[in-house]
Amino acid sequence: MAYIEFKNVCKEYNTGEVSIKALKKASFEIEKGELVVIIGPSGAGKTTCLNILGGIDTLTSGEVIVDGVKINKLKGRKLVKYRREDVGFVFQFYNLVQNLTARENVELGYEICKNPLDVDQTIKKVGLTKRKDNFPSALSGGEQQRVAIARAVVKNPKLLLCDEPTGALDSKTGKQVLKLLQSISKKEKTTVIIITHNNAITPIANKVITIKNGSVESVKINKKPKNIGDLEW
Ligand code: ADP
Repeated sequence: MAYIEFKNVCKEYNTGEVSIKALKKASFEIEKGELVVIIGPSGAGKTTCLNILGGIDTLTSGEVIVDGVKINKLKGRKLVKYRREDVGFVFQFYNLVQNLTARENVELGYEICKNPLDVDQTIKKVGLTKRKDNFPSALSGGEQQRVAIARAVVKNPKLLLCDEPTGALDSKTGKQVLKLLQSISKKEKTTVIIITHNNAITPIANKVITIKNGSVESVKINKKPKNIGDLEW
């Protein structure tokens, strides 16, 4: 059994009269510690996949297993525990709390779970020790994204789910963020899933899942993922 099994997942959103089939029997598998890129055009269903994996959206039918647990069956406190302890989220626009310093934002992650990592060590890992007492407004986009990654990573999650993490960054800063995500998957053996519509990113992944029109179009394995420095974009 794979570490993550996403099996025949269908998701239908019903908004009034209209029903939108965001996922149509989507299936893929992911192994522990893999760096996975999910690619596809806007509206393909990528975020829906990530949100279902992260326990912040429900599926209509199918099954999602993470580390042996059927997460689509989790309810109440067990679901809260899964979201708090097993999943770290990184968003396109960072979603930092503006009136808390970088360090305090990372502390938020630290405080909501049982076995967190050290806050200052994690800030060091993302290269922001000198900026930890700054508020987000004093940090560049790339620095804010590194704080957001530290806030997710300090939880020591099983899954790091990143929705367009470089979407708002220039290519040089985007590459620094990707380098950090690649090193987290390699060194910490955290399973990292990155959503993007930027094809140039795909060579760094162990696995590339292409989603189109709510279905998995292909799953490609890169035997030798490229280093970020060798990427052209
Ligand atoms: P992607 O991340 O690939 O751009 P999404 O997963 O965000 O795609 O969306 C897939 C489809 O589901 C789109 O047609 C979108 O409009 C629809 N959708 C997503 N979330 C909702 C929602 N909460 N209510 C209604 N429709 C939604």
